[in-house]
Amino acid sequence: ATMDDGLRVALKRIKPRVRELRAYTLRSERAPIKVNQNENPFDAPERIKREALRRFERRAWSRYPDFVPVELRRKLAAFAGWDEEGIIVGNGSNELIQATMMVTLGEGRRALLSEPTFALYRQIATVLGADVLSVPLTERLTFDVAALRRAIEREDPDLTIICSPNNPTGGVIEEDDLVRLLEKASGLIVVDEAYFEFAERSAANLLRAHPNLIVFRTFSKAMAMAGWRVGYALAAPEIAREIGKAVLPYNLNAFSQIAAEVALEMYDAELLPLVQALIRERERLFEALQEISGLSPVPSKANFILVRSRIEPRRVYDELLRRGILIRDVSGYPMLADCFRVSVGRPEENDLLIEALREIFARS
Ligand code: PMP
Repeated sequence: ATMDDGLRVALKRIKPRVRELRAYTLRSERAPIKVNQNENPFDAPERIKREALRRFERRAWSRYPDFVPVELRRKLAAFAGWDEEGIIVGNGSNELIQATMMVTLGEGRRALLSEPTFALYRQIATVLGADVLSVPLTERLTFDVAALRRAIEREDPDLTIICSPNNPTGGVIEEDDLVRLLEKASGLIVVDEAYFEFAERSAANLLRAHPNLIVFRTFSKAMAMAGWRVGYALAAPEIAREIGKAVLPYNLNAFSQIAAEVALEMYDAELLPLVQALIRERERLFEALQEISGLSPVPSKANFILVRSRIEPRRVYDELLRRGILIRDVSGYPMLADCFRVSVGRPEENDLLIEALREIFARS
């Protein structure tokens, strides 16, 4: 048998549903202004870096991290106002999405999504063999709460995921709407709060009254630590214990644990002012985009803005890249064929983005 035959035979053992999936990847392009991944454009403050580096140096590199990162969990409990036993940390919140799906989804199980949303949910649920049910956002790209309620009632999903603020649209779910979903559902409801710091609201206060609620968060956005891969989940301790069974031992390396601890210690002094600056920049950028003929930004509570564009998103992407600005073309998502997404950058980056878009759309 030739190599090709062997390969064909081997590939047959990959689950058909996996082979039909398109991989979740991102072309790695570089540009001086990078507003394609909703990162914190300010980077981690010097004081945080210096203190973390000092602690890295003192730590024995030969030793495993804690089995359960007790110290980090204690700090997260204080930060989030939730019980230590109900907190799980992950290698990015992506890992916790995966672990939660591993313990809830599989053949014959159902996940309910409100789409368009973060593509990873559908990706992992599909790999696991679950049926993915989808409720579209409204025409205005807000959550269709009535339709979600009906879907929950009709389909009784094992897991429902609400991303709030929603990536890539930026909208949030209202608290009373969420409560109505939580009351209707006997399945678990995840609220992915990757961007909650920019919305200045959280569903965490509903945890006590709703044991079917799980809140996911990350250090990748407001905390300016996407490179260190730290995420966490808040849930009833009994639920957290079950999700923990699908998380690998030592999933969070010792450096990341230390960096996350320092970020929490210094959040109010060092990071909160940056978050507040980004919120102000988001509002300024939104107004500037609104004034460009041919563009229509969607109101956002996150650190990014979805923009409807008269010019084809791919062309806007290329034109901006030529000017050193990397945005995200999201036109492949359902309902978003005329859209691109920009993260809120530093003030001078936003100025350059606005200037470049004015130029591109003036010529159209
Ligand atoms: N959830 C949402 C909604 C996101 O947009 C992202 C980042 N793109 C993540 C989770 C992943 O975060 P992490 O870096 O913590 O894995």
